[in-house]
Amino acid sequence: MAASCIFCKIIKGEIPSMKVFESEKTLAFLDINPLSSGHALVIPKYHGATLTDIPDDSLSELLPVAAKLARATGAEQYNILQNNGEMAHQVVKHVHLHMIPKPNENEGLGISWPQQ
Ligand code: C5P
Repeated sequence: MAASCIFCKIIKGEIPSMKVFESEKTLAFLDINPLSSGHALVIPKYHGATLTDIPDDSLSELLPVAAKLARATGAEQYNILQNNGEMAHQVVKHVHLHMIPKPNENEGLGISWPQQ
């Protein structure tokens, strides 16, 4: 944990968030500035700024959780992306995957987040 990190504060509950998934090593919550309905961030509870700063057992959970959340939105198409480093437009220096669903044509989404 890093005292000044905004995502560490979310993990500790010091800053409110809309949690959509939590496990021992991973937390997912809705992005406060969503690019689409259901835009979620998947983060390791272990603090590290970039992919090389976190252990493999934290890293390896992130993609399966992002894929699970993508399925939960009902979206047939979506982006999963990770900005790694300032030049790659990473703003929050705590590793996170973005899961950005695309609405299904004529249907929108039927989001049903997994049980906690
Ligand atoms: O990948 P990048 O670092 O650019 O994105 C950070 C993301 O964290 C932004 O999409 C921003 O909206 C989100 N954020 C958030 N809650 C906060 C601070 C930032 O969802 N309290």
